[in-house]
Amino acid sequence: MKNSSLFDLSGRVALVTGGNGGIGRAIALGLAEAGAAVAIIGRNEEKNQNVLAELQAIGIPAMALKVDVSERDTLAEAYAEIEAQLGSINILVNNAGIGVPSGGVLQEDPEDWDRVIEVQLNAVFLLSKIAATAMLENGGGKIINIGSMYSIFGSKLVPSYSAAKGAIVQLTKSMAVELAPHNIQVNAIAPGWIETDMTAVLRDTPMYGEAVARTPAGRWGQPEELAGTAVFLSSKAADFVTGEMIRVDGGYAVQ
Ligand code: NDP
Repeated sequence: MKNSSLFDLSGRVALVTGGNGGIGRAIALGLAEAGAAVAIIGRNEEKNQNVLAELQAIGIPAMALKVDVSERDTLAEAYAEIEAQLGSINILVNNAGIGVPSGGVLQEDPEDWDRVIEVQLNAVFLLSKIAATAMLENGGGKIINIGSMYSIFGSKLVPSYSAAKGAIVQLTKSMAVELAPHNIQVNAIAPGWIETDMTAVLRDTPMYGEAVARTPAGRWGQPEELAGTAVFLSSKAADFVTGEMIRVDGGYAVQ
């Protein structure tokens, strides 16, 4: 029990954006299993309610809010509503994401560029700002941003996505430096190729097998395989870890 208490999130409150599907759902459930109260936000109310039921079945306080993170004016109110219901948020996971596979900057529609940057980068900044302001008052907290292999490598398929995911890493480091004196740790997780709704379109394309061939583990990852790293970064065990990006990629970026 002595060691596991390092990772115990009892008494903590977490907000997971895009917590109703894929990686966000797996992280939300992982944090709940570790004892945290969990709020999820997403646009699709049916998916929200399905994951809310799963969270409640774990036996922790939970809530789901219908929020589009690209609607800037709604974010502070949503954050306050969660704090009113569950208590001060100690853990923010900026996971909500979209990608537009334009095929390159020559093809990419500027409106698609804006949509991706709004969800994948601007919303991360805005929610982190709201969270950090509150965490400052509450003695600290954890912010976890979801990066990508495209935080490291370029992509001709999704240039806006890659630009946002690269920027997230620098934003993570910048916030880590700024907020460390206030006991707020800011880190990123960079998933490799993970089987979710977002990547379902690739299943019947050559990219699916290419990812397997390039990944030393020889397979795609499952969303649940991100949960442990999120629990670690949310926990006391990571109180001296900040500005880091942890790859969970089956070795993809190593070779
Ligand atoms: P999914 O498409 O399965 O999930 C995306 C989630 O984001 C959904 O819960 C969706 O909910 C939510 N979301 C999207 N847009 C918005 C919005 N405007 N406001 C609020 N919520 C939103 O994708 P993944 O689980 O694969 O992706 C999760 C994160 O992981 C993303 O940031 C993605 O870029 C990243 N990632 C994924 C990888 C993979 O291989 N799958 C690899 C590397 C990174 P709703 O539709 O209800 O709004």
